[in-house]
Amino acid sequence: MGYPIAHSLSPVMFNAAFAELDMDWAYLAWRVKPGDLHAALEGARSMGLAGANLTIPLKEMALEWMDVLSPEARVIGAVNCVAVREDKLYGFNTDGEGFLSSLREDAGFEPRGKRVLVVGAGGAARAVAFALGRSGCGSLTVANRTVSRAESLAEHVREATGTVTAGIGLDGSVLGKAVAESELLVQTSPVGMYPEDIIPDWFDPGWLDPGSMLVDIIYRPRPTALLRKAAELGCSTLDGLGMLVHQAALGFEIWAGGKAPVKVMRDAAIDYLAEFK
Ligand code: NAP
Repeated sequence: MGYPIAHSLSPVMFNAAFAELDMDWAYLAWRVKPGDLHAALEGARSMGLAGANLTIPLKEMALEWMDVLSPEARVIGAVNCVAVREDKLYGFNTDGEGFLSSLREDAGFEPRGKRVLVVGAGGAARAVAFALGRSGCGSLTVANRTVSRAESLAEHVREATGTVTAGIGLDGSVLGKAVAESELLVQTSPVGMYPEDIIPDWFDPGWLDPGSMLVDIIYRPRPTALLRKAAELGCSTLDGLGMLVHQAALGFEIWAGGKAPVKVMRDAAIDYLAEFK
């Protein structure tokens, strides 16, 4: 459920997984206006659906309709996966864990003890920042256009996880130093998203340490202009498709149990994305 919901990759990923495992299940995308979310969730409950994914702009407002919240959904303040169990609505957030799974499994990067910089302080940044804090990263700096949001997210992560954190703006002199000092940088702003294949004008790739790891969680285009430049400079890079696939795989496991066929889901998403080239 989302609003808008056209071009969601989720139906192709899930329906490919169901076909692969010969499951008599179906996943449909529903365009649900924010004012109709409560009714839609009650409909899911009363019709006995297994659950639902929620995307923009429904993730935060769903909190109040959940009977049970996972620790991740509570601390992130957003629900992206709902499970209907024994007539109750369980709210989860799999974005942060999906990000970590992709970082570890797709890039072979372990964030424990590392100096991390997250650019952006929106919904995706919250999930990523809390997951990194809980993973035991060494320090976490949040950089955001609206500095107060960076400071507030940094403070919440510090309170929730005990991580050493800081919040900064996108001013070159401050951001450049933070980029140069980071071992892992995660770009979560939408700048560079299809069809705008550009490097953010507030980011100088020359700041990057060639030994660092750069993740851009955008998956359309993949890779982004920023990731292409970073790879040219010798950085390790990871795009956002793995995060999307792994958060979906975790949803599959919440609803259906067992292991999700991650490769099948990834291949289905890649085929679908090829239409946007
Ligand atoms: P969001 O809640 O709207 O947050 C957007 C963030 O980007 C805010 O911190 C905003 O700063 C900043 N921003 C927006 N435009 C900017 C600009 N021109 N210059 C600098 N900063 C700017 O969005 P979101 O849900 O976090 O999503 C962000 C991106 O992540 C999207 O591209 C989305 O597709 C992607 N995403 C990927 C996955 C995945 O699975 N790979 C999952 C979720 C999201 P202010 O606070 O100053 O407004």
